Amino acid sequence: MRTSLNSCKRIVVKVGTSTLMYPNGNINLRTIEKLARVLSELRNEGKEVVLVSSGAIGVGLRKLQLAKRPASIPEQQAIAAVGQSELMHIYSKFFGEYGYTVGQVLLTRDVTDYPTSRKNVINTFNTLIRQGTVPIVNENDTVAVEEIEHITKYGDNDRLSAIVAKLINAELLIMLSDIDGFYHENPLLNPTAEMFDEIHEINDDVLKLAGGSGSDFGTGGMLTKLAAAEYCMQNGQQMVLANGDHPEVIYQIIAGEKIGTLFTTDKQGGFLNDPIR
Ligand code: GLU
Repeated sequence: MRTSLNSCKRIVVKVGTSTLMYPNGNINLRTIEKLARVLSELRNEGKEVVLVSSGAIGVGLRKLQLAKRPASIPEQQAIAAVGQSELMHIYSKFFGEYGYTVGQVLLTRDVTDYPTSRKNVINTFNTLIRQGTVPIVNENDTVAVEEIEHITKYGDNDRLSAIVAKLINAELLIMLSDIDGFYHENPLLNPTAEMFDEIHEINDDVLKLAGGSGSDFGTGGMLTKLAAAEYCMQNGQQMVLANGDHPEVIYQIIAGEKIGTLFTTDKQGGFLNDPIR
């Protein structure tokens, strides 16, 4: 049992577009509804939950009936503007069914890098949590760009979710993906690939497994997930990478069951049967 996960009070859950949408571009209402229900139930139990959700561009494409993502930045940002409000509408409806109000927090990197705005964001998160609402975070895709002088983009929501976990002092980041955990090899290419139960250090051996040819599996890629895990571990936080197809796994993760891969520097009470420390 991963006993230390039982006592986590403040939890960040990250979901990617592949969890929220079907491969055919339609919105996966069933999964979103289950996610809202599970997170509402955690709030009922007294946990504090923040959701980091992608999907602005995916939902925007669907809403605007566009078959594929355009190449130009203004077009992508316009799609994100449409998709983000639609996404929040869907979350608001489902969380509302379970009695919870959601609050949208859109962030850019300059905001969390600059001390004054960073402090304001932390205060806003704490107030939202105290009010009993569920903050839902995304990158502010309509304004974020990659410039050398003025970096506003996080790059990916894996990184953003780890930054949010640090900002709000969460004990645990649950990263829901389209993969069950971190494997020795790409399980899509090798069905006998084995999944790690726990990783205690993101060292070169681990990075090699994630970065080798054909091993960039998962939507955001495994390297961005490992970078998020490393950031969490440096901050004394734990991260579980698990499959988001069935959001109920969140209950099992918090109960300490062996689901997905746990990234932790805490070796107490864990099961140390994996070769990487
Ligand atoms: N912010 C992007 C969106 O909502 C997704 C970025 C990511 O998933 O890494 O579409």
